[in-house]
Amino acid sequence: MFKKILIANRGEIALRVQRACREMGIKAVMVYSEADRDAKYVRLADEAVCIGPAPSGQSYLSMPAIISAAEVTDAEAIHPGYGFLSENADFAERVERSGFTFIGPTPESIRIMGDKVSAKQAMIRAGVPCVPGSEGALPDDPAVIKKTAKAVGYPVIIKAAGGGGGRGMRVVHTEAALIHAVQTTKAEAAAAFGNPEVYMEKFLQNPRHIEIQVLADTHRNAVYLGERDCSMQRRHQKVIEEAPAPGIPRRLIEKIGDRCAAACKKIGYRGAGTFEFLYENGEFYFIEMNTRVQVEHPVTEWISGVDIVRTQIAVAAGEKLPFTQRQIQLKGHAIECRVNAEDPYKFTPSPGRITTWHMPGGPGVRVDSHAYTNYFVPPNYDSMIGKIIVHGDTREQALARMRTALSECVVEGIKTNIPLHRELMVDASFVAGGTNIHYLEEWLSQRE
Ligand code: ADP
Repeated sequence: MFKKILIANRGEIALRVQRACREMGIKAVMVYSEADRDAKYVRLADEAVCIGPAPSGQSYLSMPAIISAAEVTDAEAIHPGYGFLSENADFAERVERSGFTFIGPTPESIRIMGDKVSAKQAMIRAGVPCVPGSEGALPDDPAVIKKTAKAVGYPVIIKAAGGGGGRGMRVVHTEAALIHAVQTTKAEAAAAFGNPEVYMEKFLQNPRHIEIQVLADTHRNAVYLGERDCSMQRRHQKVIEEAPAPGIPRRLIEKIGDRCAAACKKIGYRGAGTFEFLYENGEFYFIEMNTRVQVEHPVTEWISGVDIVRTQIAVAAGEKLPFTQRQIQLKGHAIECRVNAEDPYKFTPSPGRITTWHMPGGPGVRVDSHAYTNYFVPPNYDSMIGKIIVHGDTREQALARMRTALSECVVEGIKTNIPLHRELMVDASFVAGGTNIHYLEEWLSQRE
C-alpha cells in the first residue's frame, strides 16, 4: 500500500479523501490555493503545499504546480477528486510519466469517456443501450443534419462532444431552428471546451436520471454497486440524490448493472466510475460515463457498505476488489442534499464568512463538509460547501431523518439552499418518489 498520497483537490472531497487516507494509515499531502489557506483539511494536514493564487487556472488546474508538489513531498500517488483535473487524460498521463500512480482509470479510458461521441461508440460496442441519435459527430452539411434530425425525430438535443457540467446543450423543436442551433452550440463548444464537435440525440421528454456506480480492479474484476436516482436537478446540475431509485424493478437494475460491469471488463476499466443513464418507460439510455468519484458517492456507500474512496486507493495500489458481485447486498435507503452557498430561490452565489455553522447528527446522519464556524467561503470556486446524507431502513425513515437533520442545521453569515431542501423534503411528489429531471425546475417556476 502507498505510504503517502497527494490530494489534488479542495473542499469537501479533499477532506473526504484525507479521511480515507487516515483510516488506511496513509499520509496525505494537501495542496491549496491562497484562497484556501484556512480550510479545515489544510489545518489538519500532515503536510500541505500552497500551489498558487486563488484562480483555479493558476492552482488546482496547474499540472506543473501539482506534480512539483508531489515531487517535493515524495508522494507516491495522486488522488484527483472530482472536477478540476480529475477527468483530464493529459494530466493522468503526466502524473504517470512523472513516476506517480494516478488514482483513477488509465489515460486511454479517460480520453475515450471524456469525448461523449467516442464514449457512446464504445458503449454501443459493449452492448450498453444509448439514446438514439446521430452516428458520431454531426457533419457540416445542413442537408445531412436535417436528414439526421428527421430520422431521429423532433425534439432533438444538440450536445457538445467535449461538454460537461450541464453546459453545451441545446434543445431543438423544429427544423426551422435546427441549423442555427447546431452552429451556435458548435461555436460555444469551441470556446468553452476547445472542441467544436457536436452530436445529436433524441430529446427525451420526461426521463429520470439514473446512474450505476461501478468499481473495477486491474485483475479483470468489476462490480456495480446498485444505482442512484439524481433526477432532482436545476440547470442539469444535481441538487438531491438518492439510492435506490424509487419504483424501478430490481430486475431492470440488475440487467443494466450487469451490462455496465461487463463493459468495464471489456474496456479494461479500473477504479471507480459512473455510467449515467436517462430512464424512460422502463428503458435505460446511456448518456455519459464519469471516470472519477462522484459528489453523490456517499448514498451508494451507505446502502452497499462499500467505502468507494478506500477502494479507489486500494485498486490503484494493485489490490484485488475485496468482494464479488454476489457479496454486494444493498440495505435500506439513503438520500443526499447538496448544501450550496447561494440564495435558496434566486441561486445567486453567496460566498463570505460563515459566522455560525451547526450541522446535524444522530442515527443515520452523515455530514461531509470542510466548512466550520468562522470559515470564509471563497468566491472563486463551486458554491457547494457540503453534503448532508441520511440513511434509513426504508425511504420513509430516510426522509424523516433528512427532515430532522435539516431542521437542526444553523448556518449564519452566508445564505444556503437549506431552506429549499426543507421544502422539497415535504413536497408531495418528491415524497411519493420517481419525479423526472424537469420536476424541480417546474416546481421552482410555480413557486415564483
Ligand atoms: P454533462 O456532462 O454536462 O452533465 P450529460 O450528458 O450528463 O451532460 O447530461 C446532463 C443532463 O442533461 C441530464 O441529466 C439530463 O437532465 C439532460 N439531458 C442530456 N441528454 C438528454 C437527452 N437526450 N434528453 C433529455 N435530457 C437530456
